[in-house]
Amino acid sequence: MILSIHLVLCCPYFLSPSILPVCEIFFKGTYLGYTMSIALLERYVAAMVLSAVGDSLGYFNGKWEFLFDGEKIHQQLAELGGLDAINIEGWRVSDDTVMHLATAEALIAAGKEEDLTRVYSLIARNYKECMNDMIGRAPGAASENNALKLKPDEPNGWRIPFSKKEGGCGAAMRAMCIGLRFPHPEQQDILIQVSIESGRMTHHHPTGYLGAVASALFTSYAVNGKPPQKWGRGLMEVLPKAQKYIVQAGYFVKENLESWDYFKDQWEKYLKLRGISNGGPPIFPESFGVKERDQFYKSVSYSDWGGSSGHDAPMIAYDAILAAGDSWKELAHRAFFHGGDNDSTAAIAGCWWGVMHGFKGVSPSNYKKIEYKDRLEKAAKALYALQSKESSTINL
Ligand code: ADP
Ligand code: MG
Repeated sequence: MILSIHLVLCCPYFLSPSILPVCEIFFKGTYLGYTMSIALLERYVAAMVLSAVGDSLGYFNGKWEFLFDGEKIHQQLAELGGLDAINIEGWRVSDDTVMHLATAEALIAAGKEEDLTRVYSLIARNYKECMNDMIGRAPGAASENNALKLKPDEPNGWRIPFSKKEGGCGAAMRAMCIGLRFPHPEQQDILIQVSIESGRMTHHHPTGYLGAVASALFTSYAVNGKPPQKWGRGLMEVLPKAQKYIVQAGYFVKENLESWDYFKDQWEKYLKLRGISNGGPPIFPESFGVKERDQFYKSVSYSDWGGSSGHDAPMIAYDAILAAGDSWKELAHRAFFHGGDNDSTAAIAGCWWGVMHGFKGVSPSNYKKIEYKDRLEKAAKALYALQSKESSTINL
């Protein structure tokens, strides 16, 4: 009886009463274990919802994704009354969220399926189907063209050939939920494989699908409470494992290995610049305002549009996470409102920040009426339920 009182008191205020049975399922029998479970569930919901919020804010129905001047975006934001004043109703989600939900819902449909080829067929089916929901959402070229070519019902129909042009951020922007599904350290090999194979269903180039690995891996780090300044070094340690998988998988091995180094080199350079190659505290330039950030984002890009590739979308999101701490506003200013491919850097950063901080300090008007809210919350709860039965080693 006393325990059930704790249960009700500790459920986050924004969760509907329908979540209470879920809380009960994960009640671990000790007060501490119970509280930790509730907190993590809240963070899962925030991860899915705030990723979509970031996407919508960065996209602003196409107006801000394609306004290549961060200072103008910040000026228009001020005219709207600033971030807290934004009521998200009518701000549609873009391709990023539609495809993130497609990944999440396929992983949920797969449940405990151990045959990964079955899981890949389900992901491919969702990627193809979600292209029916892209009007007004500006899907990327590789994402759209290749998703439409997938043949989910045929053996290996989820595979496409290698292409030098598929290093865009389309694989990275939809992979965060893979880290929510497989967050446990002992699941890292599965996380790597599912990120690579889901990524290369549309982006068969290391710069593209390694972006998916980064998005998923950092989400899993956030779930486990790993300090962000150590995430970059973790990614560098994971890259050889990803390469080993590419060799083992035996599909376009030569082409993948030949194009492997760009992603690694860019990330090594970035980590060195921030002084975090060994996980130390990050160093930022003294003056790093909107204009300087735009210049920096451009400088790390492949084709002058910061955040549009697989290496720099998670990199810019990570840069914002490192600087923002627990400030939603600071995160948004850095990752959502800039002159680059801002809806994708926002979708990724919003997810990681939600895992770390839940809805702390976020104006409810930013997320209460986000498009697909029910689907996002439902997916978060289902991903939470799936992973919670698999290990109790999460270090909060
Ligand atoms: P999406 O990745 O969202 O499907 P696109 O196919 O339009 O979208 O690609 C987005 C960006 O990816 C483009 O701006 C392009 O410069 C970049 N890009 C394409 N090929 C590569 C590559 N091999 N390495 C790095 N970036 C690439
Ligand atoms: Mg988009």
